[in-house]
Amino acid sequence: NISEGLQRKFRPPKLGGNNGGNNGGNSNNFNGGGQTNKPTNRTANNSNSGNDEEVPEELRGLDKELIEKIENEIVDSGERVTFDDIAGLDNAKSTVYEMVVWPMLRPEMFTGLRAVPNGLLLFGPPGTGKTLIGKAIAHESGATFFSISSSSLTSKWIGEGEKLVRTLFAVARYRSPAVVFIDEVDSMLTARKADENEASRRIKTEFLVQLDGAGNRKEGSHVLVVGATNRPQELDDAARRRFVKRLYVPLPTEKDRETLLRNLLSKNRHVLTDKEIAKLSKDTEGFSGADLKILSTDAAMGPVRQLGQSAMSVSADELPAISYKHFRRSLKSISPSVAQADLDVYVEWNNTYGTKS
Ligand code: ADP
Repeated sequence: NISEGLQRKFRPPKLGGNNGGNNGGNSNNFNGGGQTNKPTNRTANNSNSGNDEEVPEELRGLDKELIEKIENEIVDSGERVTFDDIAGLDNAKSTVYEMVVWPMLRPEMFTGLRAVPNGLLLFGPPGTGKTLIGKAIAHESGATFFSISSSSLTSKWIGEGEKLVRTLFAVARYRSPAVVFIDEVDSMLTARKADENEASRRIKTEFLVQLDGAGNRKEGSHVLVVGATNRPQELDDAARRRFVKRLYVPLPTEKDRETLLRNLLSKNRHVLTDKEIAKLSKDTEGFSGADLKILSTDAAMGPVRQLGQSAMSVSADELPAISYKHFRRSLKSISPSVAQADLDVYVEWNNTYGTKS
């Protein structure tokens, strides 16, 4: 019974406009888990009625099943990421802080000339931390995090894409402050091609309308759209303009790679010296954060491979520690996933359209 489901899961509309504080991050979900948003009598008293009455005003008239799908599959209350979990990217982080986190925490302060844009584009090579930034924004600003990839809009949500976009934004406004994170945003907003089908065109139009509308925020309601893309050059003018802030999320520097490697290694026993870690950081030029994770995962298998079949009969403590040698071996087969030519495209696009931080 959908009504009952909604009944259980809907957070009652906020009383008053106090939206200034941290509302408990992603725990603030439809399932009544938000500490500050316990169901009120209003919800409880209505438990027998199956009509629209119990549906918050902002969500009336929308497809309830779709709302449920959104809450189950798009509202992301998973892993919590803080800015400290993200290695390097200091420029991007400080810009995001000023532009997004503070205004979300203190919306009343950021009005007029200080009004913040509602669209942020994170672009750069894959595996560099764009998704992590999206999650950290939501977590640190206490916003509800909605996460969807463009490709699932056209595949998984087939035929419902346009309606989904509209419903998603309505739910986001209702649950504000909210961050709507759209991965691979280029594939939704790509420059119009001859073979573009009607459904994709409608999704795109609806998304642009909603993106404009996200700015017409009512008091205390803030929906930030964060688009992530590895192919910013595919965005057309109309889409690009909507993302007023466009931040380059580059590959990690040598220093950042060192931080990443140290973090990765902290999870297992290893015997790498500082000098060896520094050498690896130098020799992994061009590796993304995700590439380094793949490399470290492979190196971590080194001790197991070394023992072969007999690894199965030793205790975990007896397994040799991960060593420099294991990394060197893994480096022979694992190389960076991003080509230099691709990097040039990002740098050029950043020079032309990027927000300087
Ligand atoms: P994308 O830029 O493609 O969105 P993600 O943010 O999903 O990349 O990063 C993929 C994985 O790579 C992360 O889960 C994390 O393990 C690792 N990673 C990439 N960049 C960083 C970073 N700057 N700091 C910490 N981990 C990172």
